[in-house]
Amino acid sequence: MSQAPASEPDYCSAKGCRADATWQLLWNNPRIHTPDRRKVWLACDQHRESLESFLGARGFLKDTVPHGA
Ligand SMILES: [Zn+2]
Repeated sequence: MSQAPASEPDYCSAKGCRADATWQLLWNNPRIHTPDRRKVWLACDQHRESLESFLGARGFLKDTVPHGA
């Protein structure tokens, strides 16, 4: 972690988590976003599943892709 590349630190979106994000959750809320809009939540391995189920339960989750690939 001390030799991180010179890019913005991308932390997991889970509350209180400062782990490096390894996943991007792409989501869309049809009530407030146009259909082609994608919001991005970053997630670490540990929180990917809980964030996915949060978005999935609301029908917002569109895709999960590796972060930084
Ligand atoms: Zn996390």
